[in-house]
Amino acid sequence: APRTVLISGCSSGIGLELAVQLARDPRQRYQVVATMRDLGKKEALEAAAGEALGQTLTVAQLDVCSDESVAQCLSCIQGGEVDVLVNNAGMGAVGPVEGLSIAAMQNIFDTNFFGAVRLVKAVLPGMKRRRQGHIVVVSSVMGLQGVMFNDVYAASKFALEGFFESLAIQLLQFNIFISLVEPGPVVTEFEGKLLAQVSTAEFPDTDPDTLRYFRDFYLPASRELFRSVGQSPQDVAQVIVKIIGKARPPLRRQTNARYSPLTLLKAVDPSGVLYVRTTHSLLFRWPRLLNLGLRCLACGCLPTRVGPR
Ligand code: NAD
Repeated sequence: APRTVLISGCSSGIGLELAVQLARDPRQRYQVVATMRDLGKKEALEAAAGEALGQTLTVAQLDVCSDESVAQCLSCIQGGEVDVLVNNAGMGAVGPVEGLSIAAMQNIFDTNFFGAVRLVKAVLPGMKRRRQGHIVVVSSVMGLQGVMFNDVYAASKFALEGFFESLAIQLLQFNIFISLVEPGPVVTEFEGKLLAQVSTAEFPDTDPDTLRYFRDFYLPASRELFRSVGQSPQDVAQVIVKIIGKARPPLRRQTNARYSPLTLLKAVDPSGVLYVRTTHSLLFRWPRLLNLGLRCLACGCLPTRVGPR
């Protein structure tokens, strides 16, 4: 029988692509419940799903921040049984911490961290009873290392990494697998939404130096990073499809080989000094070198693949 896959945040980006790719699986291994907070935004998904709509793909409402919405969504799934849960819904936040209210920061955690936890609490008893299941979490390379002016977003992804790595150990006893997927920059609405927020944001209580570092150093470097090594949501979805198809899925998978030189900096020096000092120097001392490096990664003249294939 096909496996039931529940995905959060399917109105756009990675979630939409993943839902469509799984629903169009040539071997028809999946029954996809593609969920979104606002059903008013379902046209793009329905158009992309084509003939799969109503066959291997159904669309359902789900706000990961609401207990009622989660309960309602699961009650519509036959037997309430989810074989594969993909925690994809998420939101970004950039800017100096002085300019972000605690309420805004809590909102990020409510969606990115507690949203995933809420869904897991809802599906886990069934998975444990059936002694099978797979929980995929769309984390980020920012779940592995901090990035300037992404403090709260990175913290929410680090929280996911710690939570799900811990859970993974216990769940092996139940034949349930966890996979943390860590994309680098992905060209979706995500970046656009963030930049729109930033362009109108005031960032109160922030000193002029910090604002200058944000606007004149971080923002241009971030745009360059998306332009040069940004992946498509299709590529990221393809990686996730492969992971879902595995009998023994990995705990962690980065999706972007072009980004790996940056994650390697932390891996080779556990003290963390190499990563912090190098990224600091690249941003503040040698921004031209950073741009050149990114372009070389994009054109392929710098090695991108680390470790065994
Ligand atoms: P996106 O903005 O297109 O997709 C995010 C989706 O989450 C949207 O459809 C949004 O409506 C949904 N969402 C937000 N709050 C929700 C809620 N309360 N309930 C249900 N849905 C909600 O961006 P994306 O790039 O496709 O992001 C998907 C995931 O990938 C996110 O978890 C994001 O953190 C992660 N990610 C993105 C990038 C990137 O550069 N775009 C990089 C690494 C990781």
